[in-house]
Amino acid sequence: MSPREDTVLSTMQDVPLLVSRILTHGSTIHGSSQVTTWTGEERGPRRRSFAEIGARAAQLAHALREDLSVTGDERVATLMWNHSEHIEAYFAIPSMGAVLHTLNLRLPAAQLTWIVNHAADRVVIADGSLLPLLAPLLPHLKTVEHVVVNGPGDRSALTGAADAAGVRVHDYEELLAGKPTAYDWPDLDERTAAAMCYTSGTTGDPKGVVYSHRSIYLHSMQVNLAQSMGLTDRDTSLVVVPQFHVNAWGLPHATFMTGVNMLMPDRFLQPAPLAEMIERERPTHAAAVPTIWQGLLAELTAHPRDVASLTQVTIGGSACPPSLMEAFDRLGMRVFHAWGMTETSPLGTIARPPAHTIGTDQEFAYRLTQGRFPAGVEARLTGPGGERLPWDGESAGELEVRGAWITGAYYNGPDAEPLRPADKFSEDGWLKTGDVGTISADGFLTLTDRAKDVIKSGGEWISSVELENALMAHPDVAEAAVVAVPDDKWGERPLATVVLREGATTDFTALRAFLAEEGGIAKWQLPERWTVVETVPKTSVGKFDKKVLRRQYAEGGLDVEQL
Ligand code: AMP
Repeated sequence: MSPREDTVLSTMQDVPLLVSRILTHGSTIHGSSQVTTWTGEERGPRRRSFAEIGARAAQLAHALREDLSVTGDERVATLMWNHSEHIEAYFAIPSMGAVLHTLNLRLPAAQLTWIVNHAADRVVIADGSLLPLLAPLLPHLKTVEHVVVNGPGDRSALTGAADAAGVRVHDYEELLAGKPTAYDWPDLDERTAAAMCYTSGTTGDPKGVVYSHRSIYLHSMQVNLAQSMGLTDRDTSLVVVPQFHVNAWGLPHATFMTGVNMLMPDRFLQPAPLAEMIERERPTHAAAVPTIWQGLLAELTAHPRDVASLTQVTIGGSACPPSLMEAFDRLGMRVFHAWGMTETSPLGTIARPPAHTIGTDQEFAYRLTQGRFPAGVEARLTGPGGERLPWDGESAGELEVRGAWITGAYYNGPDAEPLRPADKFSEDGWLKTGDVGTISADGFLTLTDRAKDVIKSGGEWISSVELENALMAHPDVAEAAVVAVPDDKWGERPLATVVLREGATTDFTALRAFLAEEGGIAKWQLPERWTVVETVPKTSVGKFDKKVLRRQYAEGGLDVEQL
């Protein structure tokens, strides 16, 4: 073969992209950055530098390996709120080669048990305050041999159950005490499993998504882009999104890359402590689902505080109502809408309007979209017959994505083949998101609905999200969820469930008129079935639980008025 026919080999070093690399970088180069954990106590929050977290992560890894014999890719679960010890676990477990499995503490007991058994977790690191939740599960957790208890909380809740289940109980601080503060992190293959998270699964069994070192590393770099969250070591991020909800949207890893300080709310997620945290600790950025921001807005309206530090807010997880975005604009907090899934690590899009729209009346319209795809995420829209739809901002279809931090399968338990159900993955390997929407020519995604939430009325589709957004713009409406209910004539029609603000004087006829006149909703899309509820039921990650509403309606549990 002549030299000209040779393949040109890259001269670049083949250095694996590892979580341990992010830890080492963060804990040395950004060693003085801090994780501040709210305690709700007079003596104030706990503060730990990235350098201390690096040292303690090494101690935790020593303890897991030497005292608990964790080896290889064994799963170590966490049942914890957001705080600095959870960050230590985030880094120690993958860095030593094991797999971090974050457990959603809001799931029903049966689902939690199923998930722990499916992942075959060997160790659970749990907050003391969550032992009453863990103890009754222990007899049913087939693979768990050790529970490590962190922080305050009555340990006696565990005693009997642990003995009966043959589980050894350890204290987090006692395990760490005296261990070396450095660890010779192994040189792993970047494609090995680093962490796993189960989807909040509204139908069927939850599905496991396993992130690799490489996917976490690449995703973190994308979170840090200026066109993404774009934070630096001058920022402090209030991480409200739980660490068990898709890696807290990648913030713990991304912040260790750039030295962004973290403010962790622990279990104090109610509007009043959040408002106090913001006033006292002065974060510049925060991330959470819309329901948290709805609550905070009501709190700040009732009890105004100085929240001027918080200029950037990332909202995702479900659609951000325009009225909420406007209200936060008035408070000086700029909301950036983002879209993602457990399956996408999660950042899939973020809505930073294009430069030419800044300061024009187009800017707000762009901010309302779910956002623009970054270079690492490819997207396409598929119509009902499997046809590709154009990016024209009008053709609505199911969104499919692929990329280096998007899952190509679901985890199917130790030694079994990964699952690739046909309704979740295309034949050529793209993830079918189950989200329906349009994409504009410049790559901005606008979601109109979840495929399963869209209302199919007489062969036409009605967007439940559009109706909800229009309703929540009414001053008397605190929250609104719209679901499809069966209808003899049309197949399905929308049912509007509304949470009214205190002292509200409006009625359903007025709300319906408001939807038509102010919301621009077409007449045939206006709901004729209405009900007032005290709160909209929420899923384990704080989204509207429409499945529960549909069930309540079917069982006659809602007091529905027909207009
Ligand atoms: P999860 O895996 O629990 O994070 O849920 C992912 C789903 O949340 C997506 O498939 C969407 O249906 C929904 N979602 C996430 N972000 C948004 C958003 N910005 N707007 C509308 N829906 C969203």
